[in-house]
Amino acid sequence: MNYILKKDYDIVVVGGGVAGVASAVTAARLGKKVLLLEKTAALGGLATIGLINWWEPLCNAEGKKLIGGVSEEILRRTIKYCMHRLPECWQKENVWEQDTESRYVTHFSPTVMSLVLQDMLLEAGADLRYDALVTYPDMDGKTVKGIAVETVGGTEYYSCRALIDASGTCLMFDRAGALCKNGENYMSYYSHITDFAPGKEYNMLKVRGWHITGSGMTGKGHPEGFPYYAGVTGDEVNNYIIKGQSMLLDEIKAKDPLAQEIVALPMMPQFRMIRHIVGDYEMTMDDLYKSHADSVGTCPYFGHKGYWFEIPYGTLYSPEYPNMFAAGRIISAHGDAWDATRVIPVACQTAEIAARAAVIAIDNNVPARKVDVSELQSILRKNGHRIHFEDKI
Ligand SMILES: Cc1cc2nc3c(=O)[nH]c(=O)nc-3n(C[C@H](O)[C@H](O)[C@H](O)COP(=O)(O)OP(=O)(O)OC[C@H]3O[C@@H](n4cnc5c(N)ncnc54)[C@H](O)[C@@H]3O)c2cc1C
Repeated sequence: MNYILKKDYDIVVVGGGVAGVASAVTAARLGKKVLLLEKTAALGGLATIGLINWWEPLCNAEGKKLIGGVSEEILRRTIKYCMHRLPECWQKENVWEQDTESRYVTHFSPTVMSLVLQDMLLEAGADLRYDALVTYPDMDGKTVKGIAVETVGGTEYYSCRALIDASGTCLMFDRAGALCKNGENYMSYYSHITDFAPGKEYNMLKVRGWHITGSGMTGKGHPEGFPYYAGVTGDEVNNYIIKGQSMLLDEIKAKDPLAQEIVALPMMPQFRMIRHIVGDYEMTMDDLYKSHADSVGTCPYFGHKGYWFEIPYGTLYSPEYPNMFAAGRIISAHGDAWDATRVIPVACQTAEIAARAAVIAIDNNVPARKVDVSELQSILRKNGHRIHFEDKI
């Protein structure tokens, strides 16, 4: 194969969603030579170009912050430059416990977040390539040696010592032959709408808010007879987008054109749960309120007050693949535990952890499953992570 460009990296991150950026920023700050590849022309994935600009909680809705680190940093750096709805009690920095049931959540500008993500990435010293479609990992048995990338100029090749799959679709693990599981999705099509009469109350979500076609979280509104696609074939992705756009146009036709306008369509398919790795450990609802010796972080379940999980390290890699790590919504979690771990703050959190683990693996020349978890835990603690729910911070 004739490649138009060949370069070596310590770590290649596939996918520039929030998870990919959190991984790349983390690894670059740790001094690694890092490349992030994104197939579109903006960073943030579903959170930005997918129009899902609602940051689910960093806390358990009972006053305890569970997620800090790069995840919290991305949120705070974004809302510095845009309107947001972060409750006042969570606006103070470095608060881990307080007497409140307010959730640490907010709306944010997807456009501003894309720009901030690029800023963070370049500031950290990572290389970035847009409009770069990663096709196949180049494998030597179960070890990834590099990846091939399609660009407008031709095919490029990047070798790496570790690869972080932050594709949102588990593409690299799947193409490397690793065991993965598919999801099932209600037909949801979120566009952005501008309301011409926002009313008296200041309400961001109305001025530029979601317009949901099909189903929200519950399945109510899912079109009759339409399959619950995983989103793992070209046909599924096409049918999903075509159906969403047709349904939206039907709704627009029935509305007063002088009352509101649809201002943005999602630039990526809005499947919530496409595919995840089957890791050394698979999180399920049996892990609710369960402490794990190899926990690398805690997270809430956004819709349920007080719920919490500890995230075992074994969710971030596939045991037979020594130098591949999973980040974001593709980690090894199933059912409602997948639902809990796929959201924006947790995607950023697992991505930072995967990057820190990849750096330890490279520095000690060990496979993913041999990373010293106590070393990882102690580094994470020093960098704004709650490892165990009961930890005093
Ligand atoms: C309908 C819907 C509603 C949601 N609501 C919320 C909500 O209210 N709050 C919340 O916190 N979360 C919500 N989520 C979940 C959340 O948005 C995502 O799970 C999260 O943003 C995933 O981040 P990620 O970086 O793991 O993946 P993604 O955002 O999917 O990012 C993956 C990136 O990889 C790139 N990529 C993929 N393949 C390749 C390739 N071959 N080569 C190069 N680049 C590639 C993509 O372009 C993309 O930029 C919702 C999701 C959906 C679908």
